[in-house]
Amino acid sequence: MDTRRVTSEAPFPIAIFARAPVAGAAKTRLIPRLGAGGAAALHARLVEHTLQQALAAALGEVTLWCAPDETHPFFAQCAARFGVRLRAQQGDDLGARMLFAFADAQGPLIVIGADCPMLGPDHLRQANSTLRAGADAVFCPAEDGGYGLIGLARPQASLFENMAWGMDAVMAETRTRLRALGLAWRETSPVWDVDRPEDLDRLTAFPHLLAPRLDPAKFRDPRVTAKGERRARVELHALETLWINTGTLCNIACMHCYIESSPRNDRLEYISAREAAAYLDEIARDRLPVKLIGFTGGEPFMNRDLRAMLEDALSRGFDALVLTNTMKPMQQAREWLLDLHTRYGARLKLRVSLDHFDKSWHERERGVETFAPTIAGLRWLSENGFALDVAGRLFSGEREQDLRAGYAALFAREGIAVDAHDPVALMLFPEMDADVDVPEITESCWGILHKSPRDVMCATSRMVVKRKGAQAPAVLACTLLAYDERFELGRTLREASSAVALNHPHCAKFCVLGGAACSR
Ligand code: SF4
Ligand code: SF4
Repeated sequence: MDTRRVTSEAPFPIAIFARAPVAGAAKTRLIPRLGAGGAAALHARLVEHTLQQALAAALGEVTLWCAPDETHPFFAQCAARFGVRLRAQQGDDLGARMLFAFADAQGPLIVIGADCPMLGPDHLRQANSTLRAGADAVFCPAEDGGYGLIGLARPQASLFENMAWGMDAVMAETRTRLRALGLAWRETSPVWDVDRPEDLDRLTAFPHLLAPRLDPAKFRDPRVTAKGERRARVELHALETLWINTGTLCNIACMHCYIESSPRNDRLEYISAREAAAYLDEIARDRLPVKLIGFTGGEPFMNRDLRAMLEDALSRGFDALVLTNTMKPMQQAREWLLDLHTRYGARLKLRVSLDHFDKSWHERERGVETFAPTIAGLRWLSENGFALDVAGRLFSGEREQDLRAGYAALFAREGIAVDAHDPVALMLFPEMDADVDVPEITESCWGILHKSPRDVMCATSRMVVKRKGAQAPAVLACTLLAYDERFELGRTLREASSAVALNHPHCAKFCVLGGAACSR
């Protein structure tokens, strides 16, 4: 028996095993309930969900081990969206493939599949701690007799060879082999996986996994909808808010981040103070009616030029708004933030993302150990008299009035001066998933919905971004569509003053039907 123990302090890497979501070949036992396409779509969502959980655990590198190989476009999308490395699975059966991954890791590794949606950051961190404490192995047994997670301090070939994978005795047989090897292991309580039609009923706890997929005929033509009706457009009425995207890197990885930020996503680079200043110059030169410069990311406080950008905007007479999670990057900036606050008062405002008033809901979205630092940051901002509002989410299924009451109780308890019943002081944003089916917005929708195009964000705002590798920043229609090139309107604010066709699911779900806006 190999008796070496783990010595490094670094968190252990995570390997996710997933098959390509090919209709007819993925989740085949669910095809009678969901159809071949629906089963493959669910499989794809489970993979995405698993990636989000793994990143939210904030452990070591996350690698997606792909079968039959990494060439399926879905995997490339995952790599781009989540910033994870792709590897092709190697071996004749599941055991050989897992053993290959463990051998490749050259040290401790945690392996999970994509079938257990309830496997979350807590399980992964617990597995990491168990190995760190000296166990040779850790498992999350599955109710069907297999396991949903295996972590090993080092490869153990005999746990994988000649195993009847797919049978209900895998975990029992693994225990027998662990004993024979004299290994110390720990198990969590059992998890369930999504394999049989009856498992679908348990997915009601994860509604985003079951929502109907977007009709691929929709949102293709900027002029007309899939039904041939004239698509709604929004003219730039008056540019009142200019958003600067400071870069997509963030200190955490939230499950449903609008812009898919994470500690690894640098698709939008850090913009520099000099690049941002060029847009402020253009506003002055063309006497544009901009009042507010908003800073969003990623986590804006990770951009080292944020202080200079804020100073520039505030000293030119603009109001400034910074969207933040108030965690470590903001807390490291407390000294200069106080200085700006002293000099500019309420013209500098911070909007804090607090997804729910309850710690477990917040951390389900944002990862473990994210609630207390955010509350601490909020309390510090409030105690120091900063202009402040809070952005929450409508994802828990609760009624809005109950959510507001919950936030109000939290704010009262923590001494945070935010009025939870004021819809601007506490904005509650609808969930956005661009893969979920939504109606397209036509010109006649404005009248039917009693809404005006002027109420939509892109009637009064634009966002500047710096794409990775680009020579210069670009101006986009809004904060929500950072990666969709159809919404890149030009290099300058003047070039970006054209009307915007509402040709994206977010236009419908978030702006027109959800009624949300980032810059109220
Ligand atoms: S803190 Fe904000 S920017 Fe960062 S991942 Fe979460 S939602 Fe995205
Ligand atoms: S998502 Fe909203 S703000 Fe952005 S282009 Fe669509 S309608 Fe306009």
